[in-house]
Amino acid sequence: MKRVVVLGATGSIGRSTLDILRQHPDRYELAGVTGHTQVDRLAEIAREFACPWVAVTGSAPDQDAFPSGTRVLQGPTAATELVQAAEADIVVAAIVGAAGLLPALEAVRSGARVLLANKEALVMSGELFMAEVAKRQVELLPVDSEHNAIFQALPTEAQRLWERPDIAKLGVSGLVLTASGGPFRGRSADDLAEVTPEQACAHPNWSMGRKISVDSATLMNKGLELIEACWLFGVTPSQVSVHVHPQSIVHSAVRYTDGSVVAQLGVPDMRTPIAFGLAWPARVKAGVRPLDLFAAGILEFEPPDSQVFRCLPLAAEAFEAGGVAPAVLNAANEVAVEAFLSKRIGFLTIAHVLEYVLEKLDNSPADSIDSVLQADEWARHTARTWLNSVS
Ligand code: NDP
Ligand code: MG
Repeated sequence: MKRVVVLGATGSIGRSTLDILRQHPDRYELAGVTGHTQVDRLAEIAREFACPWVAVTGSAPDQDAFPSGTRVLQGPTAATELVQAAEADIVVAAIVGAAGLLPALEAVRSGARVLLANKEALVMSGELFMAEVAKRQVELLPVDSEHNAIFQALPTEAQRLWERPDIAKLGVSGLVLTASGGPFRGRSADDLAEVTPEQACAHPNWSMGRKISVDSATLMNKGLELIEACWLFGVTPSQVSVHVHPQSIVHSAVRYTDGSVVAQLGVPDMRTPIAFGLAWPARVKAGVRPLDLFAAGILEFEPPDSQVFRCLPLAAEAFEAGGVAPAVLNAANEVAVEAFLSKRIGFLTIAHVLEYVLEKLDNSPADSIDSVLQADEWARHTARTWLNSVS
């Protein structure tokens, strides 16, 4: 029996994870869950799974709502405390945004297997995060569907990410990172000026939280994933080729020196990568509909439009700049996405906010979590000040 903690259990990835646990009560028990605002949902989860630990990081919970066997932690550091208390074998890191960094890092420090959905943690502090993974020899399994696909397509030796394998020495010549292109694929900048948050969140293939949905629409998600891939697999942006693939059937691929391209395919359902991470190196049922290749029909691939979707090249530039630039990019993006979702700015302004904040940055090394968090705070402040001055 594996004890599983789900950070961000009330979200989209959290729900998919619980769905898999529900299918395998003989393999997994829920050791702890966290949520931010959805206290009622957390109470339901605690009752259903007889979960011993719950953390509420946002609004104060009504203790009476929880079953008597559940210990409830509350406050901004509650998710980190829960990781320390719950003694999990597996932690699913699925809090959205920078708020997920410290709990994810604590999961690594706990020595548990970490299923990483919270890509922002790696974007912000990839070097420190991977150093901690290596130090603790932690089994790190990417949940992000593209990175999970790459992981699946890598040679077995290269799956030991905690050993920081040199994948070039294992015959890998490059990575293909696929992108659906989001709801605005093929549109011109003029077309995008007036699009609404509702349109941006209506993803053609995936059902996800609102922040990542907007990131998918701007291609910032692919930018964050490019950085994520560089840290996970020890490559540079020039070794990662983004392919827009509107059908979201090929979830990414690995190129080998002999000309082979090994890809992972499946219907777009996050339960596949989550189940893979939970059971690795075994396989378990995920409740996912089998891929019907006849029905899938033609699979298309095209290069991304980096002129219209500026966030993707900006992310590559931030990674190349190094230091705290990716953390700053991430924080500015969070502020900009929030402003777009609350209809304070237009869709195209999101990239302008990132450009402005990155231009203002006096870059410094990301040599401690404190320096990363300080840069995050500076970027949020700078982005908000600019937004206030223009709106
Ligand atoms: P959701 O918005 O659906 O869920 C986010 C979760 O984080 C919720 O449990 C939410 O709690 C919690 N949360 C929100 N803000 C805070 C905070 N300040 N402190 C602590 N917890 C907080 O997001 P997703 O599930 O879509 O995404 C989660 C992560 O997984 C993201 O990093 C995303 O990039 C990544 N990811 C998601 C994919 C997807 O298909 N959804 C695919 C690949 C990666 P509450 O709801 O209770 O307020
Ligand atoms: Mg992804």
